[in-house]
Amino acid sequence: MKHKNFFYYNFLGLKLLFGMLPASMSLYCVLQIIHGISWMLQVVFMQYFFDTIEGGGKSTIELATSLLLMGGAFLFAQIMNGVANCFGQILNRRIGKEANKLIFRSIERQEVIAFESADALDRIHKAIRGSEGVFWVSTTILDILFFYTSYFMMMSWYLFSLTPILSISTIIIFIPNVAAKLLRMVAFEQLENEAAPLRRKFVYYEKCMTDKEYFKETRILGCCSYFKSIHAKLLRILNQLHFRAQLQKEKVNFFINFLTVLAYGGIIFLLVYYVMKGTISVGAFAAVLASLREFYGFMDEVISERFAWAAENVATVKNYLSFIKDADKERKNVRLPEEFEIKLEDVCFSYPQPDEGNGRLFALEHVDLRIPWGQTVALVGENGSGKSTLCNVIAGLYEPTQGLLSYSEVQRDDGRVVEGISAVFQKFCRYKMRLSENITISEVTRRVTEEELRLLCEEVGVSTEWTGGMDCMLGKEFGGTELSGGQWQRIAIARGLFREKKLLILDEPTAAIDALEENNLYRSFQKMCHACTAIIVTHRLASAQIADRIIVMKDGKIVQDGKHEELIAMEGEYKRMYELQKKWYK
Ligand code: ADP
Ligand code: MG
Repeated sequence: MKHKNFFYYNFLGLKLLFGMLPASMSLYCVLQIIHGISWMLQVVFMQYFFDTIEGGGKSTIELATSLLLMGGAFLFAQIMNGVANCFGQILNRRIGKEANKLIFRSIERQEVIAFESADALDRIHKAIRGSEGVFWVSTTILDILFFYTSYFMMMSWYLFSLTPILSISTIIIFIPNVAAKLLRMVAFEQLENEAAPLRRKFVYYEKCMTDKEYFKETRILGCCSYFKSIHAKLLRILNQLHFRAQLQKEKVNFFINFLTVLAYGGIIFLLVYYVMKGTISVGAFAAVLASLREFYGFMDEVISERFAWAAENVATVKNYLSFIKDADKERKNVRLPEEFEIKLEDVCFSYPQPDEGNGRLFALEHVDLRIPWGQTVALVGENGSGKSTLCNVIAGLYEPTQGLLSYSEVQRDDGRVVEGISAVFQKFCRYKMRLSENITISEVTRRVTEEELRLLCEEVGVSTEWTGGMDCMLGKEFGGTELSGGQWQRIAIARGLFREKKLLILDEPTAAIDALEENNLYRSFQKMCHACTAIIVTHRLASAQIADRIIVMKDGKIVQDGKHEELIAMEGEYKRMYELQKKWYK
């Protein structure tokens, strides 16, 4: 049953919050109880005041005291209201910080391949939404337990002391209200699940039209109107989903409001009846009548707003809690041995959502490969032949779907991060940070002199003249200098080379750099790869010749393996590609 989940996930949420900040959370509960009592005190002192007036023959001092007490009770309730709310806000911020830490820890522990699957991305988005609401959703139960319950219980006790029937009737009308609200939760859990993938798409298409990365291309190629139409269509579906849920919500609200009005009328009738009969004093009559609005106001607030809101959002907390379970996963790092041989035995790899267009389930098929220590290997092949996938598998980022990967005695196991590897990816990152940070973040603990950094930059053609110094910000986002694609790529290369490594993977590291410069860079790679094993993916066969060995890939398989001279001497994929490229570079 869905509503069983409500209490279950709230309980888990509270367990988490108390675990994070036990003292503050306990203080929050105490404040809520005092807050509840403060509202009740108002009613008691109001009756005292009315009784004092009604009784007649009272001294001015007595009258003034009762008036002061009533005023004091009002003031106290307002102050407690402010204190409890303010403390809640502060606590929310502190909990939010802790909740985020857990999300990041959990993201760190996800397998890299998870980021290739839409489901996994949904999970992350849902978890982030959940982390924003975890405090308010979970503390709703605390507010109900400590603030509202203490207020209602004392009110009931007070009414009971006046006459039992008053107290019982207020409790009876409470029950159908709660039952009706429980029904609402079902609609919202469904909405959350249906809307998450749509919302992700919606945000993505919006990005295609507004984001700097896409903006220029979509405008120049005239795709804006296309994106606008799918964006509008998605918005329509999302709105429909919301509307359906809203309609259901309003129906229930109508029913509840109807009950409340009936109850309100019934209680007033009872009050008049008992005061006529002389069962209760006029003072009590006035106090109850005056606080009845508050009583039903609170009742409506707790059910229609607080509880209903928590019910709508408990699904997001559930998503959050299930995501952060991974934060506790032990992360075992393994270091590459001093000198090692990379060995792939019958390795197959399939993406979580394989590309159906090319009809292949596996991006890598039965790959057997041994790379001895210190070798520089060039990986060549057509687009889509599996070069990048193979790099990611060798780097330990993707776990083989089948087969084994080892670095001498070290096995690539599930969830382990292999240390000692550096890479420059085809889709490299452009960190909007200082130039020096952009390079040194790959090995933050390494102490580096300005001279060393300057030499590295010189080697790969990174110039401080682009920005006016190593400390200058890159990227327009934070007021820095924007660079060209080639300049960003050189920085990515510098970052990859800066890291202390025993295995270096360069996946088309010069795609954005012009052909003339490419040769110089490849010579630098050759120079800088002397103390490690290196795998270089390139589409330029002329550059591949710097390698000790060339591996040719086609349709996810290794089809040729050897030195340039050997490969050129035989008929095959390499020779065919070489002849083709020779024509361009003549
Ligand atoms: P290359 O680097 O040689 O151009 P890739 O290794 O990137 O080739 O891709 C190999 C195959 O895997 C291609 O058929 C491609 O469609 C598929 N592929 C690559 N990335 C993904 C992904 N994230 N999800 C599904 N299929 C993918
Ligand atoms: Mg590639």
